[in-house]
Amino acid sequence: MIPAPLPAERVFRGDRTFDYVYSKRMITGYDPETKTFRTGIGDLLNFGWLPESLVPSDNPLSIHARQRVHSAFARSMVRNGWEKEVSVSLDLDVMGIRFLIRGRLDLIRESDGSAEVLEIKTLDGKPDFTDPVQSRRNNSLQLYFYAKALSSARGLTPDSISASLVFLSMDNTSEPEAHYFPLDLSDEELEGSWLRHIRDTAEFLIAEDARKSIQLSALGGFHFPYDSPRPGQQQILSDVENCIENKGYLMLAAPTGTGKTAAVLTGAIRITLPRRLTLFFLTAKNTHKSIVLETLRIIIKKGVPLRGIVITARSEVCHRNRPRCLPDDCPYAVDFRDKIHESGIMKELLDHQIIGPDILMTIAERAGVCAFELGLCLATQCDIVICDYNYVFDPHVFLKRFFLEQNTAEMCALLIDEAANLPSRAIDYYSPEIRLSWIEELLEDGSCTGKREKLLHPWMERFGEWTILLENSGEDEIELPSDTDIPLQTDSWFKEITELRDPPEPLRELFKAIIDFSKISGVSDSRYHLLYRLENGDRILQWFCTDPSLFLRERLESCHNSIAFSATLTPFDHFEYLLGFPDEGRTVSRKIAWPFPKENLGVWISPVIDTRYRSRMESAALLARKICEIYSAMTGTWLVFFPSYVYLELIADHLKDSSVPLLIQTPGMSREERAGFIERIESENQLVLTVSGGVFSEGIDLRSENLLGAIIVGPSLPGMNLRMKLLSDSYRLRELDPFIHTWAIPGMVRVIQAAGRLIRNSIERKALVLIGKRFTKYPYLGLLPEHWFRDGSIQLLCGGVCGITDFLRKEKGGAKAPP
Ligand code: SF4
Repeated sequence: MIPAPLPAERVFRGDRTFDYVYSKRMITGYDPETKTFRTGIGDLLNFGWLPESLVPSDNPLSIHARQRVHSAFARSMVRNGWEKEVSVSLDLDVMGIRFLIRGRLDLIRESDGSAEVLEIKTLDGKPDFTDPVQSRRNNSLQLYFYAKALSSARGLTPDSISASLVFLSMDNTSEPEAHYFPLDLSDEELEGSWLRHIRDTAEFLIAEDARKSIQLSALGGFHFPYDSPRPGQQQILSDVENCIENKGYLMLAAPTGTGKTAAVLTGAIRITLPRRLTLFFLTAKNTHKSIVLETLRIIIKKGVPLRGIVITARSEVCHRNRPRCLPDDCPYAVDFRDKIHESGIMKELLDHQIIGPDILMTIAERAGVCAFELGLCLATQCDIVICDYNYVFDPHVFLKRFFLEQNTAEMCALLIDEAANLPSRAIDYYSPEIRLSWIEELLEDGSCTGKREKLLHPWMERFGEWTILLENSGEDEIELPSDTDIPLQTDSWFKEITELRDPPEPLRELFKAIIDFSKISGVSDSRYHLLYRLENGDRILQWFCTDPSLFLRERLESCHNSIAFSATLTPFDHFEYLLGFPDEGRTVSRKIAWPFPKENLGVWISPVIDTRYRSRMESAALLARKICEIYSAMTGTWLVFFPSYVYLELIADHLKDSSVPLLIQTPGMSREERAGFIERIESENQLVLTVSGGVFSEGIDLRSENLLGAIIVGPSLPGMNLRMKLLSDSYRLRELDPFIHTWAIPGMVRVIQAAGRLIRNSIERKALVLIGKRFTKYPYLGLLPEHWFRDGSIQLLCGGVCGITDFLRKEKGGAKAPP
């Protein structure tokens, strides 16, 4: 029996600890057919408006505290004869656009043809302003709208309505104090500000309608970025169109070289552009983004006027080169809105069809504003957003302006590239951890108060106890009982953090993790295991999530549609489950055939060498000789993929005395080192030793005429450790074969990805040698792609390698090269 999992909405829900600010997506609620914009007053006021300055957003508990103070005040007013939460609406026609604006005012008291209206806001500390029209423009406009709506609905004259903003100051030391700011409803500046905002909004909608109509007519004449789609691409195109049209789920397994990026993008934009959906192209690695951008540029050249933006990591575009953003101490965060308006950069940026990080940084630097936040604001005005998975799926990083609320999420169409990578990334997203180094840093901080010390000391004690358990085990990681006493003290931390206007970074991290922990600890959920480990000198306590599929499902279901594609997305049922795609026939799965002449890929299995962990030392010399023999038979470049660095180094050691030129991958290579490595692969003849599942085995296009083939050493099975054991237990609980799902499938996915570096067009002819007995056996043999077989079988490499050289010397396949 599998214990009932914790419902996804109980964990990591509504966490606002990452985004500093967020505005609504621009177009939600607008019907271009009838030119009617149905919107709430909050959304309307955020429409197209940039944040005044960037400030850290509230933590979830302080939001809760604000709501509590707000409700208590409203209740006390109701006891004094006020009515709370009254719905009002306004119907306006501005520049041919009909605005249907709705809202719910906080408090109203009516008598004899007059009305008093109050709008409640909370503040940290006392108000430091005197004129709310200047300092709290959105709050003032909101109240102005209520008064206008009331006047029109109840036939009240403007001077019979009085309206005040009430700011409740929260300083946690005493009862909140109410500060009243009456609004002069006849103030010309207020009226002007309201009219300007509505007119700006109408102008934006009109301009967007014009942009869309140009886009639509261009789309009519656009079929494909290249001459014409090949059969596999045609299939992808129509599957993608159907999926988006029907708000469905699609899984596409298409071998490397199919041209799936072009086909998926073409199918997607043909449907999303007319429907005004935002297309999210999600990638696991930066290298994938360049392929997408290249394709988009060709589509744009074909006359389709798109607007796309690339969102990168905050630290990559931070003008101050900070690993962590500290907006309170950053000049690029101050006067964000005014600087953008005054510099006119918004229009300049929107004139670009592809807004990449370089353009964004240059232009943002000129205006003195944060490039990352500017990119997020711009994303709401783009047709395509290209970003990492985490901006959609990570509970602390997801883009709240798109995915927090259903009405905006359902306007987002998801394309998940190289989707086989998402399940392991999702495990990280949903496995919160607490580090001893945070606790130590906080204790060493000179500003640590006695109260905070009292909260931190139990952690030091518990870390000490867990460390003894870890040391006694002799392992690097242990599992602790799920009912282990963890000194969360959530309420006390809540008080501690809400008392601080600007908590230090380790405190924020710790508090965020404590909130996550508090949602998991004490709840019986078979997906979660409490682990303790030593890593780079730090000690880490972690709730390890073995199955984040329900969390992924929640996000997927809130969006318009989801399309996952990869060269390695089979077996479909394995990935369908891990990715959270719905079963019961709701997900369409499509396997695309190998697009090139089969005879151009020669595949051999060398079954003599035993590459199992226990036999590696013994068979190392033999393996090195075999690799040398293959390389020496024909001069050129050969890629050799190993399951691990340790294995790679072992064989490199055996090869170092040979005359074979070696290029060897090392762990943790920088971006520049990786680029240089690829350049050398493409320009020199050598034996390239690299690891499967690494940066050179997926998502890169190698353009080397000298590349003769690849040698893949053993199925690249994940190592055996505590985490893998827990993952395999979770498959066992679901009555799935634990070995196949935990080790065999991921291991063979890496093999197939590595082999995908070989053939990229119809005229190339390459050899693939799989080394290891296991490739000839169950389950590995059954997981090899169909196009590696000839007449149902694969050649064995038992004697010499002349079969390979004969194959490579033969005339190349006759099929025409694709575009
Ligand atoms: S420039 Fe850097 S530190 Fe400043 S707000 Fe942007 S990301 Fe944060």
